[in-house]
This record gives sequence, structure tokens and C-alpha cells, in this order.
Amino acid sequence: MDSTSLMKTFKGERVPRITMATFKQQQVEDFYEIGEELGSGQFAIVKQCCERSSGRDFAAKFIKKRQSNASRRGVLREEIEREVNILQQIHHPNIVTLHDVFENKTDVVLILELVSGGELFDFLAQKESLSEEEATQFIKQILEGLQYLHVKNIAHFDLKPENIMLLDKNAPVPRIKLIDFGLAHKIAEGVEFKNIFGTPEFVAPEIVNYEPLGLEADMWLSGASPFLGETKQDTLGNISAMNYEFDDEFFGHTSELAKNFIRQLLEKDTKYVIDLLTYS
Ligand code: AMP
Repeated sequence: MDSTSLMKTFKGERVPRITMATFKQQQVEDFYEIGEELGSGQFAIVKQCCERSSGRDFAAKFIKKRQSNASRRGVLREEIEREVNILQQIHHPNIVTLHDVFENKTDVVLILELVSGGELFDFLAQKESLSEEEATQFIKQILEGLQYLHVKNIAHFDLKPENIMLLDKNAPVPRIKLIDFGLAHKIAEGVEFKNIFGTPEFVAPEIVNYEPLGLEADMWLSGASPFLGETKQDTLGNISAMNYEFDDEFFGHTSELAKNFIRQLLEKDTKYVIDLLTYS
């Protein structure tokens, strides 16, 4: 992106400063053959594509641009730029990489590394059983990706089973890839950031309570959401009140060690949370 310039912070660290980014204005179809749909989000469709010059496969994420301030459909230009800017800063084996960005009247098209093993969720659903040892191989990779983001002060804010994908589901230990940086934010020191977003079952209490948000909100993880209520309001109430239990149906065979790990992640007081990632 030619309009991304670098500025120095007071710590001397060089960080990108975004003005109005310009993405490639050429037709994406001239450079990529667009194939079948891989998935979709609220305002995005992801399709497989093949780079004409190299023959390499990628995933093209077509993000609908919001056409006017009055409209509620589509994504604000500044939000798309934020997603792109964050993806450009990320190079980690457990996180999807960004290859290129195109733009036309209606969409911004992110050309992403193709993650072809599907969602971790589907992989686990198809397996008869998963040992704790196998689970730790996935958890470790998820935490390594997260640690990388958090060292860069980037919060993902939308970690959930659908956004944890596998590069190749047939590998002996499939490689995890975190995807979807649509809600991700760089957390600036001393700048308060509050927002209500995410997916009810998986959001942290500070999001439900509209309190200042930080990296800790990503450390609110468990397998099945133990907070799920009859309604969205019940679910959010359970999260805020820390009302949860390890249902025998899901956690009957789970060791105390694993439950303790989850308990430490389901910590309402955010000042204790970040240590878990830093020191464990
Ligand atoms: P997103 O809006 O980024 O969550 O993308 C919507 C859906 O498209 C995801 O839930 C995935 O099923 C699929 N998808 C997104 N990115 C990729 C990718 N890089 N490779 C393969 N599938 C993807």
C-alpha cells in the first residue's frame, strides 16, 4: 500500500501510519482466476482463486464497501483499512498471511493465503474422540499465534471456532491458522478503547459490560461455551455474572489440569489474565 508511511513513536519504535490507503485499482479477475466459494461472513464472501502469473492458489475475500454514511450495509472504508493494515504487519506460521489487495466500486478484495483444511470446529466434529494430548497440540498453536499478536499489541477480538482453521487436515498434526481480522485492533498505550462486538457465546465480560478493552479479551477461551443460555440476553448475563459450570456432557472426561487451565482463562479480572500468556 503506497500510502502507508512509517512514523516513530516516543519509544523509537517504527509503526505504520495510515492515511487514506489506495489499493490496486485493476480488475482482480485480470490477475486471478476466481473459483468456488469457500465461506462467507456478514459482509464478505471468500472464494478460492488462482494467481494467473504463478499458478498458485489463494483465497479472495470480497468485502462489501459501505456505500453511504446512512447505510447500515457493508463495511466502513476505515474498518477495511484497519483489517488490511493489521494483516500487513503479521508474519507467523499460525496466522493467515495477506498477499495482495484490490479494490473496485463495490468491494475491497483481500488476496489471502489459502487455508484449505477447513475449520478446526468441523475437523473436531468429524472425529470420534480427541485426546487431551491432541487438544494440547492445537491449543499450543493457537496460543503461539495469539502470543505473536499480543507482543505486537494486536487484539484479535473475534476468536471462535469458525476463525480457527487448518492448513491441511490430513497432516499428522494439522497446522492451525487464525483467520478473520475484521474486528482486530492495535491497542495503543494510554488510549481507552471500548466497543460492543463479537459473537455472544464467546465474548469476554469486559465487552458485555462496555469496559475498556485490551489484549486480555482474547484470553477468554474454552471449548464448548459454558455460558450458553436460552437467549442471547441469558448468555450475556451468564458471562457478566461469571455463571458457568463444566457440564458433564462436555467435560466429564477432562482432567483437573485442563479444567484449571480453562478456569484461568475464564478470569473476569483482566489484570490477572495477561500473565498467563506471558509466563506459562
Ligand atoms: P471471514 O469473514 O474472514 O471469517 O471469512 C468467512 C469464511 O470464509 C470463514 O469462516 C472461512 O470458512 C472462509 N475463509 C476465510 N478466509 C479463508 C482463507 N484464507 N482460506 C480458506 N477459507 C477462508
